[in-house]
Amino acid sequence: MAREIIRKDTAYAAKANMPDYDKERASFSWEDAKAELDGLPGGKLNIAHEALDRHIANGNADKTALRWISKDGEPTDFSYRDLIGQTARFANVLRSIGVEKGERVYSLLGRVPELYVTALGTLKAGSVFCPMFSAFGPEPIQSRMEIGGGKVLVTTKALYRRKVAGIRDRLPELKEVLLIDGDGSMDGTRNLAALMKDASPDFPVEPMDPEDMALLHFTSGTTGKPKGAVHVHGAVVAHKTTGRIALDLRPEDTFWCTADPGWVTGTSYGIIAPLTIGATMIVDQAEFDAERWYRILEEEKVTVWYTAPTAIRMLMKAGADMARARDLSRIRFMASVGEPLNPEAVVWSNDVFGMPFHDNWWQTETGGIMIANYASMDVKPGSMGKPLPGIDAGIVARQDGGVNAVDDQMVIGELALKPGWPSMMRAYLHEQARYDKCFVGGWYLTGDLAMRDTEGYFWFVGRADDVIKSSGHLIGPFEVESALMEHEAVAEVGVIGIPDETAGEIVKAYVALKPGYEESDDLRLDLIGHARKRLGPAVAPKEIAFRANLPKTRSGKIMRRLLKARELGLPEGDISTLESDEK
Ligand code: AMP
Repeated sequence: MAREIIRKDTAYAAKANMPDYDKERASFSWEDAKAELDGLPGGKLNIAHEALDRHIANGNADKTALRWISKDGEPTDFSYRDLIGQTARFANVLRSIGVEKGERVYSLLGRVPELYVTALGTLKAGSVFCPMFSAFGPEPIQSRMEIGGGKVLVTTKALYRRKVAGIRDRLPELKEVLLIDGDGSMDGTRNLAALMKDASPDFPVEPMDPEDMALLHFTSGTTGKPKGAVHVHGAVVAHKTTGRIALDLRPEDTFWCTADPGWVTGTSYGIIAPLTIGATMIVDQAEFDAERWYRILEEEKVTVWYTAPTAIRMLMKAGADMARARDLSRIRFMASVGEPLNPEAVVWSNDVFGMPFHDNWWQTETGGIMIANYASMDVKPGSMGKPLPGIDAGIVARQDGGVNAVDDQMVIGELALKPGWPSMMRAYLHEQARYDKCFVGGWYLTGDLAMRDTEGYFWFVGRADDVIKSSGHLIGPFEVESALMEHEAVAEVGVIGIPDETAGEIVKAYVALKPGYEESDDLRLDLIGHARKRLGPAVAPKEIAFRANLPKTRSGKIMRRLLKARELGLPEGDISTLESDEK
């Protein structure tokens, strides 16, 4: 906090899409923002129309919409017209196999062009798109498909064989599996490329009610199953507006959002925002590699770059020289999201790139950026910035079933938002009670702890719950505990996140063994292997510690908070409900 404020050059600020935050905030209305959409007759709209088809009428259709860089570094360009045709074919395929409006189409794919065609083709047909991270193991896949009642899954032969074939009989609602590299050799699947080839490249975009469901994004809670956050077609107003204001995106930009569409950032900003704005987006199939990333930034002449703290910390480790060896002069704006961005990283980026990473904050439920550092606004390293125009954020304290606003500056409370912006989730699918619990006293409670300073900048403090953020991925401890409990040696397990220099947090499991089992390194490896097989490497624990007993409440709940306090050597706090102990 004591760090020096990074002041914005007035000429740079004046050229921003939003040159004056206070002015824009005073005059902003979501109604006006909505009026900027093209829309469809009769008050209808469709995200795919805004992202793709409308670019025919405005003369943009031959511009590159997507430049896809394969693992071996080869670029392939897709114009808006190409994507319009391919998504029309995909929508026709859905119709031909009997998929209707509102039915759920899931993807389990790496960052390949077919993922983008699936996403936008599904929306075009009025069906609901639900992306899954391709590194998930069978259990997260099964729970997510069960909750959403997935009718179609688009995936690859290898992913299907490894992760889905074994659970297929537990997914009775799954009618069609479309393989992007299918060759007819796998039972119960179809070859998507062949279906696409036979399909017509014309499909009139399905006119949707703004409140119709468009996207289903899963997120994790402290307990229970993952939650399916429902987003509607009307959310596109927020995707476009926040892209313009918080990411300073313009039609002439080459935009690189490094997030995977398996997570909400990769859909809202890795697909929808740049295409609705009419920019060119870069997609890299490969995983993080510092040298490769700098090469892409230079060669593709990226102008706006949206990435995440884990990647930024890895770039810092790789050293400033690697960045300085490249011509990165085209970059105009850089932003970060997903986890706390260390103030050192902001200062470092300002030194190395001549501009800071602009931290912004949002979550799966909010559908779009809520709090941000803007191109025209001075940056306080370590702060998430200020609420977007159209967004009212506050700090509240829970009390007697209600909440009180915390008006004092720099006092920690729960970050809360006044509901009503277009990209807000409309439900947790089939979980009304869990959804209702998020709203208290006219606020949506985010589950994050934060503070606000005298100038209205917000500062992230931590999570109010036990959810873990590792490499930007939100992980529910319960999901990990459940998978470990399936191992024959495990009697009890408690899972927490522990600080990690690069990933922010890593998943650590405390395990009490059943009688007859002895702790050993082999068993530790076996447990990690078991969890990786079930959950996938992104979710499985990296560390396992054995304990004779775990601290539990009188009602038998494992006290993760206490495990964490002990792990970190922090005060144990209120332990009045503690029944049994690990010691
Ligand atoms: P997800 O729903 O997976 O996008 O995760 C949302 C959560 O990530 C938030 O509730 C925060 O806990 C965390 N998060 C997102 N952005 C930031 C940020 N800029 N600073 C700190 N934490 C963040």
